[in-house]
Amino acid sequence: MPTADSQERVLSQVEAATEEQIDFTQRLVRLPTVNPPGRHYRDGARLIGDQLQSLGFEVDYLSPDPSEHPSEFPRVNVVGLRQGPPEGTTVHLNGHFDVVPPGDGWTRDPFSGLVENGRLHGRGSADMKGGLAAAIFAAAALLRSGVRLDGSLEVSGTVDEESGGFAGVAWLAEQGRLTSERVDHVIIPEPFGVDRICTGHRGVYWFKVESHGEIGHGSMPFLGVNAIENLGPVLEAFRTRLQPKLAERRTAMPVVPPEARRATLNINAILGGQAGMEPQTPCVADHCEVIFDRRFLPEEGFENTREEIESLLRQVEEEGPQRRYTLTDLMVVHPVQAPPDSALTRALQNAILEVVETPATLVASPGTYDQKHVTRIGGIESCVAYGPGELELAHQPDESCSVDDLVTSTKVMALALLELVGGD
Ligand SMILES: [Zn+2]
Repeated sequence: MPTADSQERVLSQVEAATEEQIDFTQRLVRLPTVNPPGRHYRDGARLIGDQLQSLGFEVDYLSPDPSEHPSEFPRVNVVGLRQGPPEGTTVHLNGHFDVVPPGDGWTRDPFSGLVENGRLHGRGSADMKGGLAAAIFAAAALLRSGVRLDGSLEVSGTVDEESGGFAGVAWLAEQGRLTSERVDHVIIPEPFGVDRICTGHRGVYWFKVESHGEIGHGSMPFLGVNAIENLGPVLEAFRTRLQPKLAERRTAMPVVPPEARRATLNINAILGGQAGMEPQTPCVADHCEVIFDRRFLPEEGFENTREEIESLLRQVEEEGPQRRYTLTDLMVVHPVQAPPDSALTRALQNAILEVVETPATLVASPGTYDQKHVTRIGGIESCVAYGPGELELAHQPDESCSVDDLVTSTKVMALALLELVGGD
């Protein structure tokens, strides 16, 4: 159990390093590690790796098979280990350093890293370079405080989270680098705010519905079957028959924002006929496809979720002539939920109470993140997300993060690490 004195020493190290931490966060934000396509990953990994090395971590750069990715955009992950007594607890802090493209609507340079009015600006400041830097400086504070460590610390910067995490955390877990044999607890500093701990997320089901028609001359549409026209009743059925049912289902998981406690359905994309083709030829559209994003609740389960969609499609098929649809699964992520009473959750709760002076709120995420790979592939149940920044600003124009929150969350993580691996 950490003493008040060791807590004091760790916290004062966080404060002493504030400027250094902000400077490092700015440098991370200024590197446009945009995904897709996955730019500047080597530079991003190097920046993080150099920082970890200067803190005495043993650093590895780890890349999946390069033949699976375009050679101009190599996938590079970085892991730093500060080995303690082998029988001790190991805590792993993981952050992704890829960011989504800036998109339109910015009123400033998306990669400025500028600090103005107490906020650090730029793509990734909240999701989640601010959090990754906070994790690194939390570990740094512990090491610099001179407190005895009874366990090991590991920090990783990984890629491709925004596109599924397959070359990042999933790959590290498959390689045995991030598994329950080596690691006891994982904190992922995604932006849930300084007093919230995220223990999991709902399930994800991406699927494609294809409408199959018959090609014909555009001047004689009665001789073909128009796939686009036949997709209309599907969209209508989803809107009027499925959506109202989904809106009534609520999970017991504390998903934030509250609207996301329901089952949801989003139309991601639609493509039909000669969309995008130049020039057009006079043809009846014989093909149309739509991609849907269905978020399902642990209470619904995947099998029921899929079955409900399949049977609705068969119904709509029967309700009109010449309708033919196929359903294809694109991605399934099952819900994950860390045990709410683990040593990890307790350590973060204690630290939040100490630093923020308010009881922690346990939440679940509206979207999925790398926790799924840590748990499902790595077999590590004790994994939560805790980090600075407002979830609502992630992927938005003018993304920014409060500097105070960066420092506060660093203190929280540092105290939690002290409780988990610190000696007396
Ligand atoms: Zn993120």
